[in-house]
Amino acid sequence: MKIFCECGYVIYNNSDAISYKARFTANQDSSDLFDKIEEQIKKLVTNIEYTASNKIDVDVLIEDTMTDVSETISDYSRTIYQCSECGRLFIDNSQFHTHVFIPQDDSVPKNLMRSIKGDEWKFNPD
Ligand SMILES: [Zn+2]
Repeated sequence: MKIFCECGYVIYNNSDAISYKARFTANQDSSDLFDKIEEQIKKLVTNIEYTASNKIDVDVLIEDTMTDVSETISDYSRTIYQCSECGRLFIDNSQFHTHVFIPQDDSVPKNLMRSIKGDEWKFNPD
């Protein structure tokens, strides 16, 4: 997928850990999201207690749960992209229709979606 910004820059979405992309959850959905994750963790604990007979079983159950949690987070989140050239924001609404917002002036940083760790961030796929 790519977004053609009005400034002429092309925004690509073709890898993980993109510095100009973020996901967000509506405050109104946060409680439901946390409830779903809590359910999945409780289910994991129960499954480990009653079905896992060794460490490999536990690792598989954890891996399956992490997949479910990741999907749940994805179900409750939407995407924001920021053009690295002009700073425009591309924000999905609840129907996943993208709306564009233009920065007030040039003082607005064009890297608002980067890691909270800033320059200390390093890609670690594990
Ligand atoms: Zn742009």
